[in-house]
Amino acid sequence: MNEIQYVKGIGPVRAAALKEIGIDSIQKLLYYFPYDYLDRTRITKINELPKLVEAGNEVTVIGSVFRSEIKYTRNRKRFFLLTLKDDTGYITCVFYNGVEWYQKAFEVGEILAISSVPELDKFNRVQFIHPEFDRLKGKDEEDNTDWSQLLHTGAIIPKYSSTEELRLVGLDNRGFRRILRNAIQHKLSSITEHIPNDILQRNTLLDIYSAIRMVHFPKSYAENNHALRRLKFDELFYFQLLMAYRRRELKGDLKGIQFTSAHKLTKQLHSSLPFELTKAQHRVLKEIHNDMQSPAPMNRLLQGDVGSGKTVVALFAMLTAVENGYQCALMAPTEILAEQHWQSLRNFLKEMPISIRLLVGGQKKKLRDDILEDIRRGSANIVVGTHALIQEHVQFAKLGFVVIDEQHRFGVAQRALLREKGGVNPDVLVMTATPIPRTLSLTLYGDLDVSVIDELPKNRKPIRTALRFEKDKLKIFDFVKKEIAKGRQSYIVYPLIEESEKVDLKAAVKEFEYLKKEVFPQLNLGLLHGRLSSEEKDELMQQFKKNQINILVATTVIEVGIDVANATIMIIENAERFGLSQLHQLRGRVGRGAEQSYCILLTDSTYQKKKLQLATNRSQARQEIQATGKRLATMVETNDGFKIAEVDLELRGAGDYFGTRQSGLPGFHVANIVTDTDILSIARKEAFDLVARDPHLSRTENKSVKKEFEYVFKDLLSYVRVG
Ligand code: ADP
Ligand code: MG
Repeated sequence: MNEIQYVKGIGPVRAAALKEIGIDSIQKLLYYFPYDYLDRTRITKINELPKLVEAGNEVTVIGSVFRSEIKYTRNRKRFFLLTLKDDTGYITCVFYNGVEWYQKAFEVGEILAISSVPELDKFNRVQFIHPEFDRLKGKDEEDNTDWSQLLHTGAIIPKYSSTEELRLVGLDNRGFRRILRNAIQHKLSSITEHIPNDILQRNTLLDIYSAIRMVHFPKSYAENNHALRRLKFDELFYFQLLMAYRRRELKGDLKGIQFTSAHKLTKQLHSSLPFELTKAQHRVLKEIHNDMQSPAPMNRLLQGDVGSGKTVVALFAMLTAVENGYQCALMAPTEILAEQHWQSLRNFLKEMPISIRLLVGGQKKKLRDDILEDIRRGSANIVVGTHALIQEHVQFAKLGFVVIDEQHRFGVAQRALLREKGGVNPDVLVMTATPIPRTLSLTLYGDLDVSVIDELPKNRKPIRTALRFEKDKLKIFDFVKKEIAKGRQSYIVYPLIEESEKVDLKAAVKEFEYLKKEVFPQLNLGLLHGRLSSEEKDELMQQFKKNQINILVATTVIEVGIDVANATIMIIENAERFGLSQLHQLRGRVGRGAEQSYCILLTDSTYQKKKLQLATNRSQARQEIQATGKRLATMVETNDGFKIAEVDLELRGAGDYFGTRQSGLPGFHVANIVTDTDILSIARKEAFDLVARDPHLSRTENKSVKKEFEYVFKDLLSYVRVG
C-alpha cells in the first residue's frame, strides 16, 4: 500500500502517477523540491513591456485570461492566440504548435503567470511567442492568496516541474503546490532528523523540518537560502562521508602489491622511444613508481591535457608490473579508443616479447574464447579493452595493475569492480584527458592521489584557432591547398547527431563527393565514418598515416585516439553542434608535431535564427544559443584544457559534466559542486572528522547518520566498508 495516497489531495490515481516518476513515499514527496520560484521582484506590469523589448531578457507577467482564440495566418496556417490582462494593459501570446490543446487549456478569468522574452509583432505591438505559463488560480477556485495583490506582498511562489502524465491527473504546478502544502502541514513527521545536533549547531544549520518547510514555502529569500544551505550540506556531507570511507579503506589495512623496481623492460622502452620524456612525465612516473613500491594499493589520478603524453607514462608503469610477474588491464571508454590504445601499445612494444590482447564487445566467439583463455592462464601480459573487461566471466590469473582512461566516464563503482578482479588488490591508475578543474579534483576524487602532467612535449607550438562562417569556405580551402602543397595534411569533421544519424551521414557523404570532385580534384581524400567495418577504418587510417591521403573527411569517430603528427589542420563543420570538451578533443588531433597547426571552427551564421524558429521552448533555446557562443569563444581564446574544462563545467552544470549516472557519483539535486565550495568544505571537514571520531558510526547520536548514508548510497555500498 502506498502511503502517499493518504496525503490530502492525492488519492490512488495521483499516487500512481507520482510513483511513475519515482515518488512512492511521503519522504520522497517532501524532497520533491521546487526548481525555481516566482517572486515579485521578477514580475513586470504589462505596460512596462515595450521598454523591455530591446534588452531581450525573459520577464514574467501575472494576469487573468481575457480571450483565447484560434486565428489564421495569411496562408491559412492556424495558430492560437491568448490575450492576458492585468491592471495596466493587455498582452497577446502566440502559439504556433499544439493549437487544439491550447484552445482547450485556458479558461477566461483564470489567473496565469506567463514568462518569455517580449518581442514586437509586425505592427510593433509587444507579444510573447510560445511563452511558458503557470496557472495560479482557476476562475471560480477558492484561494486565499490575492493574486492581484501579489505585487505588494512578499509572496514567493514555488514552481515544480511536471510531466504530461502528471498534468493529466491535475498535478501541474498548482497541483503540486497544493499537495505539498498538505504534506508539510500534516506529514512532516514522516522524515527524521539525521544530522547530529552538534554538527548542526557548529555550522548554524537549520533543522531538517524547518529546511523542508522553507524550501517549499519560504516567507523570504533569506529563509529560502537558509533552507537551501542545510539541504546542500546534506548532499555534500554524505558524499564526503563516502570519500572519507574510501580513503580510509584505501589507506588502511588493505594489502596491496609491493612491486620491486625493475628496469629491464623500461630501459628497453626508453631506448626505443623516438623522443625524450618531458620533465612532467618523469615527475609523474616517479610518483607512480613510489606508489607501486609501497605495500598499500595505489589509487592515483593522472591528469594531463590532450597530447600531453599520458599513454606512454601508463605504459612505463605497466612494464614495471609485467616485469614483476603481474598482468595489467587498460580500460577505455569506447571501442575505438581501446583499439587505438592497443595499436599504439603494440607499436611501442613491437621489439619486446610481451603479449597484448584486445577485449571488446562484438568479437567473434572463437577469438573471444581465445582471449579469455589467455587472460585466465596469465599468458596475456597486458589486456586492453572497454567495459567488457569488468564483466563477470573475465578472470585474470594475476592482475596487478589497472589503468582506466577517461576517468569521468567511469566511476567509483566500476573502479571497485575492476579492482575486485585482482584477488589481491591491484594498483589503480586513472587517467583523464578531459581534465577535471583543479578546484574540484580534491573534493570529487578525494579518495585518489593526483598527479598532473602540466607540460606539453617541447616541440609543440600552440594551435591557432579561428571562428569562420560558411561563406568563408572557399578561402579556407585555398589555405588548405597551400598547406598541403607544403606537405601537410588536414581533417574535415562533420557532426553526427544520433537522432538523425542517417541524414547527417548522407550530408557528410554528399559533401565529401563535392570536395573530391569540385574543390580538391588534384588531391587524395578519404571518408571515415562509423558505418565502416574496422578493417576499412584501419585501412584508411594507415593510408592517412602514410600521407597517401591528404585530407581525411570524417564524422566524430576520430574524436579520440588518432595520432598523426603531420596533420596540421582541423576544420570542424557545424562547430555549434559540438560540446566544448568534444571540440577540444578534436582540436587535440592536430598540434602533435613541430609544425604550426590550425583549427578552424565553421558555423552557419543563421543557426541562431533557425534554432529560435524551430524551438518549442524559446527561452531554453535562447540559453542554448548563448552557451554555444560561449563555447566557440572559449575555443578561440584558449588552448588550455583546464580552463576549457572549467567553462564546460560552468555551462553544463556538474551533474551533466560528470555524467552522474555513469560515473557512479551521487546526484546533486540542490548542491552545486562548483559554486557551493564553502558548504562543500565544511561538509568535508565534518564528514572526515566524524569518521575519525566514530569509524563505525556506532554511537547513539550517529546511528541516524549511518542509516541515511546507507540509504543514499545503497547501490554503491557493497564497494565501501563502513568502519
Ligand atoms: P594523451 O595524453 O592525449 O593521451 P598521448 O599519450 O596520446 O597523449 O600522446 C600524444 C602523442 O605525443 C603521441 O604520439 C605520443 O607518442 C607523443 N609523445 C608522448 N610523450 C612525448 C614526448 N615527451 N615528446 C614527444 N612526443 C611525445
Ligand atoms: Mg590518450
